Amino acid sequence: MPPRRVIGIDAGGTKLLGGVVDEQMVVHHRVRRTWRGAGRQETLDIFTDAVEEIRAAAPDVGAIGFGIPALVDREAGVSRWSNHLPLDGVPFRDLMSERLGLPVVVDNDGNASMLAEARGGAAAGTRHAVLVSLGTGIGGGLWLNGELYRGASGLAAELGHTVLQLHGPECPGDCPGIGCFEALVSGSALGVEGRRVAEAEPDSALGRRLASDQEIDGGIVTELAHGGDPLAREVLRVIGERLGFGLAGLVNTFNPEVIVIGGGAARGGDMLLEPARAVVAERALPPAREAARILPAHYGDEAGMMGAALMALESLG
Ligand SMILES: [Zn+2]
Repeated sequence: MPPRRVIGIDAGGTKLLGGVVDEQMVVHHRVRRTWRGAGRQETLDIFTDAVEEIRAAAPDVGAIGFGIPALVDREAGVSRWSNHLPLDGVPFRDLMSERLGLPVVVDNDGNASMLAEARGGAAAGTRHAVLVSLGTGIGGGLWLNGELYRGASGLAAELGHTVLQLHGPECPGDCPGIGCFEALVSGSALGVEGRRVAEAEPDSALGRRLASDQEIDGGIVTELAHGGDPLAREVLRVIGERLGFGLAGLVNTFNPEVIVIGGGAARGGDMLLEPARAVVAERALPPAREAARILPAHYGDEAGMMGAALMALESLG
């Protein structure tokens, strides 16, 4: 009988988080990796290396689950297309299984996060929930009628690529769209707005960070906001408002009981979520908005890893 412990890997656009997860959903031996602009081979090597590091600490695992930021044909285990990683057309499951010598399950990272939150997180006990994960881009997941909704070809639910602003900014990555939700609201968008403020206000805390050659990203903005910096808080409010306009559309479309907000940018907490809730309360259709609670992810930025692990645990039978 295979061991009832698995490895869960959540690979975002620029960050990887992995660990061993047991049947009680306790995590052991976490590893992290970050990268920028890696090619296909290098990206797969980073994934392999992270798994090998975990296995060196915990050899008794039965399978590996990957959540990746890609349109995944789950049955075939193939990454069909990815906005942020060079993984178009990669037979991911078979390739990684051969490299690692263990059964591999692969799915979209947003789907993995949604599964974890629906099974044991902020959407537990619901039959209709939506997940929006704010990282390098936006990961999306739909929990409809008590199961993950995958669409006709298994490619749902790319909620980040609905248009919020006609003629808005180009969508980052390979998406041909402009003014997409993820171009305006994500961890990256938080960094873009933070940099704009830093350049306009050189005497502010953000401006001083920029002057000392620090890269202004979503993490810095969130850290300064938690420290009470008014301009950083204002950046979170602006992004939170935009988030609310995106969520209002999701409330009207899906009539969810819960919308879960995950990803690194969700560390802004109520500084981000309260402006979003205020916009939804004002702009979404009244009966639907009353039904929908907007909650932070229970698993925080570990939701994708937990969901990938759940998928691997289920594959053990
Ligand atoms: Zn897009």
